[in-house]
Amino acid sequence: MADTSLMDKLVSLCKRRGFVFQSSEIYGGLGSVWDYGPLGVELKNNIKQRWWRAMVQARDDIEGLDAAILMAPQVWEASGHVAGFTDPLVDCRTCKARFREDQLAQAQCPRKPSKHPGEHGDCDLTEARQFNLMFKTFMGPVEESAATVYLRPETAQGIYVNYLNVMQASRQKIPFGIAQIGKAFRNEITPGNFIFRTREFEQMEMQFFVKPGTDDAWFERWREWRMEWHVALGLDPAKLRWHEHGPDELAHYARRAYDVEYEFPFGWQEIEGVHNRTDFDLKAHQEHSGKKLEYFDQAAGERYLPYIVETSAGADRIMLTTLVDAYREETVEGETRVVLGFHPAIAPIKAAVLPLVKKDGMPELATELFHNLKQQVAAFYDASGAIGRRYRRMDEAGTPFCVTIDGESVAERSEEHTSELQSH
Ligand code: ATP
Repeated sequence: MADTSLMDKLVSLCKRRGFVFQSSEIYGGLGSVWDYGPLGVELKNNIKQRWWRAMVQARDDIEGLDAAILMAPQVWEASGHVAGFTDPLVDCRTCKARFREDQLAQAQCPRKPSKHPGEHGDCDLTEARQFNLMFKTFMGPVEESAATVYLRPETAQGIYVNYLNVMQASRQKIPFGIAQIGKAFRNEITPGNFIFRTREFEQMEMQFFVKPGTDDAWFERWREWRMEWHVALGLDPAKLRWHEHGPDELAHYARRAYDVEYEFPFGWQEIEGVHNRTDFDLKAHQEHSGKKLEYFDQAAGERYLPYIVETSAGADRIMLTTLVDAYREETVEGETRVVLGFHPAIAPIKAAVLPLVKKDGMPELATELFHNLKQQVAAFYDASGAIGRRYRRMDEAGTPFCVTIDGESVAERSEEHTSELQSH
């Protein structure tokens, strides 16, 4: 049974503690767009930094890139997004609601009693129409179709069109990869489940360029590395699994595809995709741009279009995964408390400093320690309320280390101080 109450509790905890707020809340909110508060931005930054460290800085065969969100519209024609990045959409003429045709069985008709679309006697569903998920806007002062540009629906294309630039500038040779973290936008028809499926989100994508024929071996290697990364993030390995795309699920560009799935309270869902994209993208950009995108292997005297193995993860979706995975309730002396047991590396606050009482030199020593700690890690100082309550507040924020300064700490510090003075 799906535990939807856990999601409700998590959404309210996220708001109360400043992880995630609804966008434009004072105006009633904007559908499936979210803002990250003080703790949320730290958590998401820590996840992104950990990905960047593992994928770029710790390796000598991957380079970083930060390409623009807006790109030449021809990019999206070449990639197949203008023609094919669509979902089949069905409207109900009676209730005016709109559904994805491929998700009718899971969707709810907005009318009571609760039923699936098409199940009320007077439901009147239209034929499916293809609906493109890309957001459009105009570049320059004239709102005409020639000025149409798109908000990118994935970061990958910025990498493909820059692959020769990056390779030449960094003097890399194949096999090598390019990694990027950035915003992507999709006009999802049925967004939901909090920050799981949103219309504006962040992707952490890496495209690995390989010699054709070596792609299967690299695909397997990347699958292994990416699963290790998720486990090292502290996620429960029993809640992670692979899902291989069958022939009817495979995207137009992919030869093989596996999703890393996590068991959310609303079921097993994708958090990252690993795809063998073959030379589909480079071939398409070569044809549409008229520019040669081949790689010349000097040692072998060979020329070829590289194949691409892609790892594509959502930063927001992985942040939700860490929140769900970390959430637990404990009952101590009849009182229930919430604990977020994050891996310390991603915890938004690493350490809290708590003077036991506001006297006898404790606040002074605690403040000194807090300012020292703050130079190294995200730290927090809290002197208000009973010590037990302060610990509970830190449990809820997922803070792994709390330091209480009591009378003994002050006494020890002044002894140390005296012996330091004597030894000089
Ligand atoms: P789904 O089937 O869930 O729509 P997808 O197969 O279209 O996802 P990809 O295009 O492979 O997803 O995108 C790679 C990753 O980007 C996904 O694994 C997910 O983590 C993230 N992602 C994709 N769409 C969204 C979205 N609307 N909101 C948040 N994250 C997303």
